[in-house]
Amino acid sequence: MSEEKVSAELQTGVVETMQRLSKLSLMPADQGNLSARDIRTGHIVVTPHAYPYDVMTVDDLVVLNAGGEKVDGHREPSYDAQLHVAVYAARPKVNAVLHTEPPYVNACGALNRHIAPITTTGLKSANGMVPIMPFRYKRGGEFVKEMLEVMGDSHGVVWQNHGLLVVGETVTQVADRSVGIEFNAQVLLLALGAGQPQTLQHVGAEMVVA
Ligand SMILES: [Zn+2]
Repeated sequence: MSEEKVSAELQTGVVETMQRLSKLSLMPADQGNLSARDIRTGHIVVTPHAYPYDVMTVDDLVVLNAGGEKVDGHREPSYDAQLHVAVYAARPKVNAVLHTEPPYVNACGALNRHIAPITTTGLKSANGMVPIMPFRYKRGGEFVKEMLEVMGDSHGVVWQNHGLLVVGETVTQVADRSVGIEFNAQVLLLALGAGQPQTLQHVGAEMVVA
């Protein structure tokens, strides 16, 4: 893959991040997808469609231009690649987009329960509550528009009965945020089994009980 469209460092980061996350069981059966935008060129590198993470290399990645057209790579891009492109177009500060299918997040989504921040990691990872995008089978332009409205200032949004989408500035950041949101969801469900947990919120630079 040519290096001028997307830096080699960014490509390696995409592969290594998805290999790390797949070992954490955030994505069953090689589901999920990750992309990153190279701020020098505006090109977007995205994971390929339905390809196992444990054997994935940078040569399996696909590069798209800002309009979503494939400009490099021999595989098909992820099914959600155009969704990623639309998020980048709408959010200039976002340079990494990650979709995973974590079990505790999905349990909350299926229960139509927003993921309230009840741990400091959860609050930091999501920037508050993680809202829920109602289930939609098709994920085209209308889906992205509605999803970004639902998402607001949160770093993540639950796709009901499907998974999680997280945005950030780097692939490491979206990975860490996804892990943090999943662990917060796990603790939330544990706590709800015993009572009503107190939540956290940001007040200025501080975290306080909501
Ligand atoms: Zn999915």
